[in-house]
Amino acid sequence: MVLTTPEHSLYAIAVEQFNQAADLIGLEDELRQILSTCKRELTVNFPVEMDDGSIKVFTGYRVHHNLAAGPAKGGIRYHPNVTLDEVKALAMWMTWKCAIMGLPFGGGKGGVRVDPKLLSPGELQNLTRRYTTEISILLGPHQDIPAPDVNTNPQIMAWIMDTYSMHRHGGVSVPAVVTGKPPILGGSAGRLEATGRGVVFAIEEAAKTYAIDLTQARVVIQGFGNAGSTAARLLYELGSRIIAVSDSRGGIYNPNGLDIPAVFAYKQQTGSVVGYPEAERVTNEELLELPCDILIPAALEEQITERNAARIRARLIAEAANGPTTPEADRILFDRGIIVLPDIYANAGGVTVSYFEWVQGLQHFYWTEEEVNSRLRTIMTRAFQAIHATAERYHVQLRTAALALAVQRVAEITRLRGIYP
Ligand code: NAD
Repeated sequence: MVLTTPEHSLYAIAVEQFNQAADLIGLEDELRQILSTCKRELTVNFPVEMDDGSIKVFTGYRVHHNLAAGPAKGGIRYHPNVTLDEVKALAMWMTWKCAIMGLPFGGGKGGVRVDPKLLSPGELQNLTRRYTTEISILLGPHQDIPAPDVNTNPQIMAWIMDTYSMHRHGGVSVPAVVTGKPPILGGSAGRLEATGRGVVFAIEEAAKTYAIDLTQARVVIQGFGNAGSTAARLLYELGSRIIAVSDSRGGIYNPNGLDIPAVFAYKQQTGSVVGYPEAERVTNEELLELPCDILIPAALEEQITERNAARIRARLIAEAANGPTTPEADRILFDRGIIVLPDIYANAGGVTVSYFEWVQGLQHFYWTEEEVNSRLRTIMTRAFQAIHATAERYHVQLRTAALALAVQRVAEITRLRGIYP
């Protein structure tokens, strides 16, 4: 039995990917039903007082896909296009991501429909505290531990920790209720860069396997936020040539390579990479089709689709973003021999160091950045080898292999626990 959901939905894409993996491992119907459904979907509509004294009502979500392996783990996104459907897909991908990396978490995700760039710092804080209050029926260090995602950052995580601690524990801080906090508040060393660093560790493993020389590689990166700019900096330090980067306002291209620290400083000053002097301007669509060795989508979902997949000129795609490639595009890329390091593996460095932060927060015992980065490399390398071996065994693409491993693990946990009552 293949379970389906309405078309044109990100959740339908997530379920389609799941079904491919379930077919591959011959998963029984009962477990297909359980694993293709979200356990809990909370929608909250809540008022926020704006600086001018007016009140605006915002809509937010928190979804738990599956909690068989442990408490829910997953980021919170602030974006005007957030929908329940999108949050459900992201929550499901979190379940698989945690399973691939062997972390004791289930999958969750949250989001608020808002453009945070239109809010003052005070309004952003009010919105965050009220949203946290609304979803706090689900939160807790052993229930549900949020983290940053698009447009949320360590400051927002600090407000979430403070709000939860004020409500539930009379102000005594509960650092393990959220990860991605500022280090001075119990955040882990290395967490801010962990997603981008994990992407680069994944690329380094793939480069060894597929014989790509990173000191000669030309790299294109869509999105220059937390994940994209960190991956850019680390690859630049490894000697790769970063020939194009972009953000929501557009892209910049220099075939001789961009000076990434200078581009970063320019973006800090002006708010965008666009306008950086030593480069030509390209659109985000053109950027994806530039000839390169490594393409890193690090912005939003559904960027590589059946419309442009035939024109992608990269050897390797490393998905820093969640869901950047549609299943139709995946098939085209596979047929063309383009290797895709799938999101549920490539960007799992973030949740892995979030796991380290959670462990440190529970114990109030903190590790050095070297310890964090070296443990991250070990886990990323081990996961790559397991995924690659599965892909070879079944003659499938890395995404299906990664999903098969993940689904197998969550299914096994569910069988061992049994169905309550
Ligand atoms: P961020 O908000 O720091 O950066 C997002 C970047 O994408 C910004 O540069 C923004 O300008 C750009 N962008 C937005 N819309 C765009 C568009 N239409 N075209 C091109 N660029 C656009 O977010 P982030 O944390 O870096 O997240 C980026 C991706 O990585 C998301 O898919 C997120 O789910 C994923 N991710 C993030 C983490 C994490 O720890 N932060 C972990 C795993 C996955």
